[in-house]
Amino acid sequence: MKTVFSGIQPSGELHLGNYLGAIRNWVKLQDQYRCVFCVVDYHAITQTYEPKEMARRVTDMVVDLLALGIDPERSLLFLQSSVPEHTELAWVFSNVIGMGVLERKTQFKDKSEHQPENINVGLFTYPVLQAADILLYKAEAVPVGQDQLQHIELARDIARAFNHRFGKVFPECEAMLTNLPKLLGIDGKQKMSKSLGNHIPLTVFGANDSGKALKKLLSRAVTDDKRVTREDAGNPDDCPTIGVMHKQFSTDEELAWVRTGCTTAGIGCVDCKGKLAENMLAHFTGYAERRAALLANPGRVEEVLAMGAQKARAIAQRTLGEVHKKLGLWRPKAAP
Ligand code: SF4
Repeated sequence: MKTVFSGIQPSGELHLGNYLGAIRNWVKLQDQYRCVFCVVDYHAITQTYEPKEMARRVTDMVVDLLALGIDPERSLLFLQSSVPEHTELAWVFSNVIGMGVLERKTQFKDKSEHQPENINVGLFTYPVLQAADILLYKAEAVPVGQDQLQHIELARDIARAFNHRFGKVFPECEAMLTNLPKLLGIDGKQKMSKSLGNHIPLTVFGANDSGKALKKLLSRAVTDDKRVTREDAGNPDDCPTIGVMHKQFSTDEELAWVRTGCTTAGIGCVDCKGKLAENMLAHFTGYAERRAALLANPGRVEEVLAMGAQKARAIAQRTLGEVHKKLGLWRPKAAP
């Protein structure tokens, strides 16, 4: 069975973009692969953040992951900072990869532009830590979107460089491209993001209000701008949010209804959004109850993270032991 690694930053409660872009896929992957899912809090501290909120962000995220179907009995689920071998291996890798390679990564430039007041070294070297996250578990595959491909290439380059110089330890991981188109926020302009305030939080599916909060958010979602009035024809392919979401939650028959209705002005956007809300609420049936049960039992999150860290460390220490040997570092005879 192949090993798959994926990480997610502890942003707190999840939103629909996180779910469609990653978590829904993670849940399915558990049936076919040995999955390693890591909440990457060390990556999160490269950004400006409020320390008092970090523990709550981690807890909320783990609650959501469990409520959505991540099964800690089948998959490894743990917190990055609980396994110090991640940063140890990143240090080793930072001696294998050249500065010029990191300087060419466009994500550093993008991220620095977003926080010009805090361009720290961690922001520059975080792709090295990301490579360590993956290679510590000798993962053969990493599910990613198109915008993350360059990080997988870097992990492959690092594995190749280390193996070439010191002897083979690491596999060259493959990118598993997820085919979801970029999900825009309800503003119809930028990628869905909590910080931009254009997101649909998953908590709306547990609001116990007959979908009122969800429908209110969808009512604000930007649609095909050719449909100025109910009588104007449009096209779901030009409808930046609703058209994309229907493809994720509706049946082929319903998609045909949307297409015909939209292109002939046979349905209005209100009808179309109403159908989408109905399908979304059906998709998330049971999520709210599972989430509430976990929130009522905070010990469960601690238990899951402790068990995950223990299992992850056992693997991580084995890999790091191999690395130490290849590097020729001195160890007492009894140590790995
Ligand atoms: Fe978008 Fe639906 Fe309106 Fe067409 S009918 S523009 S797909 S919301």
